Amino acid sequence: MTEKLFEADSYISEFDCEVISFGEDKNRIYIETDKTAFFPEGGGQTSDKGYLDELHISDVQLIDGRIFHYTENTPEALDLLKSKNKLHGKIDMKKRFSDMQQHSGEHIVSGIVCSSFGYNNVGFHLGTEIVTLDFDGALTREDIDRVELLANKAIWDNKEILVHFPTDEELKNISYRSKIEIEGQTRLVEIPGIDMCACCAPHVKMTGEIGVIEIVAFEKYKGGTRVSILCGERALRDMRHKLEENRKVSVLTSAKQIETSVFVEKLKSDKEKADYEIVGLKRELLTLKAEAIEKSEKIIIFDDKLQGKLLQDFTISLMDKAETFVACFSSESGIYRYSIASNSCNLRELCKALNGAFSGRGGGKPELVQGTLTGTEEEVREFLKNYQ
Ligand SMILES: [Zn+2]
Repeated sequence: MTEKLFEADSYISEFDCEVISFGEDKNRIYIETDKTAFFPEGGGQTSDKGYLDELHISDVQLIDGRIFHYTENTPEALDLLKSKNKLHGKIDMKKRFSDMQQHSGEHIVSGIVCSSFGYNNVGFHLGTEIVTLDFDGALTREDIDRVELLANKAIWDNKEILVHFPTDEELKNISYRSKIEIEGQTRLVEIPGIDMCACCAPHVKMTGEIGVIEIVAFEKYKGGTRVSILCGERALRDMRHKLEENRKVSVLTSAKQIETSVFVEKLKSDKEKADYEIVGLKRELLTLKAEAIEKSEKIIIFDDKLQGKLLQDFTISLMDKAETFVACFSSESGIYRYSIASNSCNLRELCKALNGAFSGRGGGKPELVQGTLTGTEEEVREFLKNYQ
């Protein structure tokens, strides 16, 4: 059984150990040691990374109570393990410290949600980007703001995070949160006045080290709420990014940074009005255009102004001027939308032939069909001119 150095001290970044076993596992080599400071993947958290001597450890797994460190399967790695029994371990502390910040932050938020609303944390994922917490109850925007404030107050209080290994007897008298049934000795992580939770992961020593907790999003999830948080440097990076985006909006709109949404809202409503007017003007223009079109056997028109409903309306307005059919086209992101109308012939055959010739899709009534196709204006014109 490997001694878990990380359980008693989260800050052990280097350690010496002896190899208990090693071997090939598909394209990797596993290494089992008498002790380790590497936290194995578990409880929603990815494993530590680092080195055992010069062997890069990219994954660590806990399998049936045993801890396996994984490195790339190379002849050099196998030679090293055959020749050496004692190894020196080094943890990637940048990743570890960030994980500790996120995980301790998660305990604070979960503890506050539990004490304030009585909801349980029923899911936790500490990914490389975002940290998600699932609660079995609904939270409002107001609740979330309150939780975020209380969580950050717990950071400003700089509370010591304590780790306990209670006996079974002592455990009976302690009330604590627990996500999973843990076999063997229970390890309790206490943030005084905030949370008590059974957990095997490394945590920061003082809540002040978390720096800041940002609740970046919350959404309804499986009848409860999924809350996404970021702590420490991850939160700082996220806030910087959002501030930079807001600064750019401010420069583009000449609005003050604290008033960008007011300005953008006005911009949006102005645009809606302008769009409405543009549609009206287009309609007037197309009416004039339709009036100017002479009667003929076939009418074929390509015009990108015929967006949205205008395409069909314009086609119908020309129906009486075409002896056989009127076909209108407007291009949108590399494809043509079409609308074809006729007073005298069944258009279904034409529609089928057109779709077949130009990888098109669409259909409709005998007197009016619409759809999309790909091809050049010249090819489509030629096809329709020759169509009998
Ligand atoms: Zn935990």
